[in-house]
Amino acid sequence: MHEFSVVQSLMGLIEQNAMQNNAKSVSKVIVKIGKMSGIEPHLLKMAFDTFKEKTICENAELEMVIQDIIAKCEDCQNEFIVENNQFICPKCQSFNLKITDGEDMYLMSLELDV
Ligand SMILES: [Zn+2]
Repeated sequence: MHEFSVVQSLMGLIEQNAMQNNAKSVSKVIVKIGKMSGIEPHLLKMAFDTFKEKTICENAELEMVIQDIIAKCEDCQNEFIVENNQFICPKCQSFNLKITDGEDMYLMSLELDV
């Protein structure tokens, strides 16, 4: 499952952060998940809960913020939320779009216990 490797690298990042801040444990992890990231939130949660045992994240709660797909029209510079996979500018009907958000997943913030 894709989510397991995602969580593994996420854990590495969290541990690095916690160490830099001399934290004893992590109480909360907030991640942003783009709707186009290909990550299933419930699978990510499951993977996180599996991996966190006996790590610095053992008592951490995972909070997931779902990020809409944001596109910018290269023709009229209109920025909009893509819904139902309609990759077309609602203003000028152009397909010449650039995705500006919602494509990936990243660590937004951490709550650490020191
Ligand atoms: Zn447009």
